[in-house]
Amino acid sequence: MIIIVKKDCDKKQLNNLTSWVKGLGLDTHISEGVNSTIVGLVGDTSVVDIDLINSLDIVDSVKRVQEPYKNASRKFHPKDTIVDVCGRKFGGDNFQIIAGPCSVESEEQIIAGPCSVESEKQVIEIAQSVKKLGATLLRGGAFKPRTSPYAFQGLRASGIDFLLEAKKETGLPIVTEIMNVNHLDLFKDVDLIQVGARNMQNFELLKELGKTKKPILLKRGLANTIEEWLMSAEYIMSEGNGNVILCERGIRTFETYTRNTLDLSAIPLVKEKSHLPIIVDPSHATGLSKLVEPMSMAAVCAGADGLIIEVHNDPAHALCDGAQSLKPEQFADVMSKVNSLLPIVNKKVD
Ligand code: PEP
Ligand code: MN
Repeated sequence: MIIIVKKDCDKKQLNNLTSWVKGLGLDTHISEGVNSTIVGLVGDTSVVDIDLINSLDIVDSVKRVQEPYKNASRKFHPKDTIVDVCGRKFGGDNFQIIAGPCSVESEEQIIAGPCSVESEKQVIEIAQSVKKLGATLLRGGAFKPRTSPYAFQGLRASGIDFLLEAKKETGLPIVTEIMNVNHLDLFKDVDLIQVGARNMQNFELLKELGKTKKPILLKRGLANTIEEWLMSAEYIMSEGNGNVILCERGIRTFETYTRNTLDLSAIPLVKEKSHLPIIVDPSHATGLSKLVEPMSMAAVCAGADGLIIEVHNDPAHALCDGAQSLKPEQFADVMSKVNSLLPIVNKKVD
C-alpha cells in the first residue's frame, strides 16, 4: 500500500503518520519527491483501514498495490485449486455440469392436495433425465430466497430429504442453497453447499461455513465487485476451508431485456487474480431459457470450469423460475454444444 502525502504537510505530521503506521506492526519506506512525498507500507496491510487513512488531513490519496485477499489470491497459490465434490473435480482441466430444477417442488403446491410420494418423484425424474443427458451433479433449491414473502419458499428440510433420495437413485452429488447459519445441521449430507447471491456478504454465515470442510459454491452478489466477491471467498478460506468454487450468475445493470447481465469478463479476470475454480449460471444471469445455450457456449470459451443450469420437466408449471428453465430436450442440445467446445479449451467432463 502506498500513501501519497499532501504537498504542504510538515515533518511533524509526517512523523505522526509513520509512527502510527509502525504501531500497526508495519514498516514504512519514505520517498520524498519535488512535488509529493510517498509513504510505502511494508508488511501485512490487510489490517489497515484504507478509508481511515484517506480521511487524514495530510493524506492526498492511498493506493493498494496488493490485493486485500491472501488465501484466495493466485500470488500466494500459483497453481489452480481443484475442489473435489464426491469425486467430481472442479478446476484445472476438469469441467462439471450441475443441472436440475430451481426448486425441489411438491405435488402439494401444484394440485393443492396432500404432500405425497409424488414430491420425491419430481426431483428424481428430473435427476434421472439430466444424468442421462450428461449432468454430473444435481441442483435443487430447498430453502428459496424469494423476493416476495408470498411466493413459494421451498420445501425446506423435506426438500433436502427428496434431494438425498434422488442422489440414492442416480448417484448424482447434490447442490442446494443455505440461507441461515442455524440450518447448518440439515446440510450435513449435502455434497456442495450453495451460498446464493443475496447472501454473498452474510459474513457470519461465511465464517461458519469456513469452519466446516464442506465444498462451498459461492455465487457473486447482485451488485458486487469481483474484489468484494473474492473477499467473501477469503472469509470462508481464512477460517480453514479452502474448498470454495465461485459462480458468476450475472450482475444488476440498467438493461431490462435480461434478468441480469452476464459478466463473462469476470471469468478470465478471476482466473488471473485467484486460483479458485469458477463456474457460470446462465439461467439466473439471463432469466430467459433461449439465452441459456449461447451463454453456456460463451462461458466455456471464456474458460469457465463448469455450468449450473436450471432444468425442469414442465417449465410452464414450475413453482419458481420457469421462464429460464430448460426442458430436458433443450438441455440435451446445450450439452451437445458444450461437449463439442470442451476440447478447444482443453477441458473434459470428469
Ligand atoms: C438459485 O440458484 O436458485 C438462486 C436463487 O440463485 P442466485 O442466488 O444466483 O439468485
Ligand atoms: Mn432459480
